[in-house]
Amino acid sequence: MPSKLGTEERPLRIAIIGSGPSGFYAAHPLLKSGLKVKVDMYDRLPAPYGLVRYGVAPDHAKIKNVTNVFKKIAELPGFSFLGNVNVGKDISVEGLKRFYDAIIFTSGAETDRKLGIPGEDLKGSHTATEFVAWYNGHPDYRSRQFDLSGQVAVIIGQGNVAIDVCRILCKTVEELKNTDIAQHALDALAKSNIKEIHLIGRRGPVQAKFTAAEIREFGELTDCDPIVDPKDLEVSDVSQAELDNPKNAANLKNYKILQSYANRQPSGKPKKFVIHFLESPVELAGKGKLQKLILEKNKLVGEPGKQTAQGTGIKTEMNCDILFRSVGYRGISIEGVPFHDKWGVFPNKDGRVTDGEHVVPGFYTAGWIKRGPSGVVGTNKPDSEETVARLLEDVNQLTPCKQPDTKAVLELLAKKSVWVVSFDDWQKIDASEIARGQKVGKPREKYTSVDEMLSVLK
Ligand code: NAP
Repeated sequence: MPSKLGTEERPLRIAIIGSGPSGFYAAHPLLKSGLKVKVDMYDRLPAPYGLVRYGVAPDHAKIKNVTNVFKKIAELPGFSFLGNVNVGKDISVEGLKRFYDAIIFTSGAETDRKLGIPGEDLKGSHTATEFVAWYNGHPDYRSRQFDLSGQVAVIIGQGNVAIDVCRILCKTVEELKNTDIAQHALDALAKSNIKEIHLIGRRGPVQAKFTAAEIREFGELTDCDPIVDPKDLEVSDVSQAELDNPKNAANLKNYKILQSYANRQPSGKPKKFVIHFLESPVELAGKGKLQKLILEKNKLVGEPGKQTAQGTGIKTEMNCDILFRSVGYRGISIEGVPFHDKWGVFPNKDGRVTDGEHVVPGFYTAGWIKRGPSGVVGTNKPDSEETVARLLEDVNQLTPCKQPDTKAVLELLAKKSVWVVSFDDWQKIDASEIARGQKVGKPREKYTSVDEMLSVLK
């Protein structure tokens, strides 16, 4: 009789696809479950940590300290990192099933949502995701060009990603040079001519999605004044009801900071950070390149907590040299896994992947690719724990894989000339980045290409 999964004789074998926060937060409860578990965590890059490395802003170093927690998880018995392996290309999902009893997809949300307006693809119109990945040294984005020679930058959307992009544009090189920002980005920002940074929200000051700590930082920048028109802070009875609701304490905090900006006189700093509300872009225009933005004034409709923006037909124009659309991330599909194209997620019931109707045995998901792109790093912990709890409930129903052996996977990948980066290998790359950074007063100088990372291991 075959041994039960999760025993010394036959450990439960799990592949986790994606080494960002949700991947590590899934690995931890598995390895601490009391069962004998082997977790192989895959990432298409040689470096782990996903959005913590390539999404969190370089000047928010404290958030990145969570990698110390992830490192401890990676050191637990039963954990292996298989970096530089692209699941779907180097090995198919179908191929992985041979080696694992279950697969957890934690591949995040790699791309961006579209605005769906004319001119969206004009030269000079970018997504925030590209800019963020570029200044964070993501290998896929290092050669992107952002023309910062004009004076006016516009950012569409009022989430924390939009705020990150604005802050990077508002800060001086002095304020950024001791962070782990990619050197190519620091060099480009040093030459930036941007003087006005406009943040455009389709709803009002009470509904903005950014958080207080993030918006407050604009009051303390060396070279930039935050500007809010006091008229924009006049709120309707419905929005006032939202502000009065104790559940919306975070919105009230934002609102008070915005009031403080509206009440202060700009001190004549060289850059202006202007926050706009109740405006939606309806067209981007220009001859061969973005030159202006056409906006429609909005009004809010709906009950407290459910207000949406509705166009009023009143249009305005704004000159614009460069624009970043920051209206949310979006997950991408992996061949062999059901995908909800409209939502950009793997359809699931509490983490069990479904084909839209029925559960797909052995497939699980966690993080942004499970629930959509919301929440901070820590939000992924309970989310991944929920998924792992469902998986552990299913252990006795899982179909044991045919070849429960990581060595066999490594041999297969070696035959395909895939250079698999282990966690020990990554630690060598990590140490080398830190050493490079020390020479220039940065916490690390990232390698921005896969070849550079691999060359450390030669
Ligand atoms: P987000 O918080 O969902 O914000 C998206 C923004 O885009 C909202 O202002 C939304 O407006 C707007 N938007 C969506 N569709 C639009 C359209 N068609 N036209 C105009 N505006 C549109 O997303 P995010 O900024 O990408 O952030 C993702 C998650 O990461 C969030 O949970 C965020 O807090 C987190 N994050 C945290 C930090 C940090 O803690 N420092 C940093 C970065 C990101 P509506 O509100 O009207 O929908």
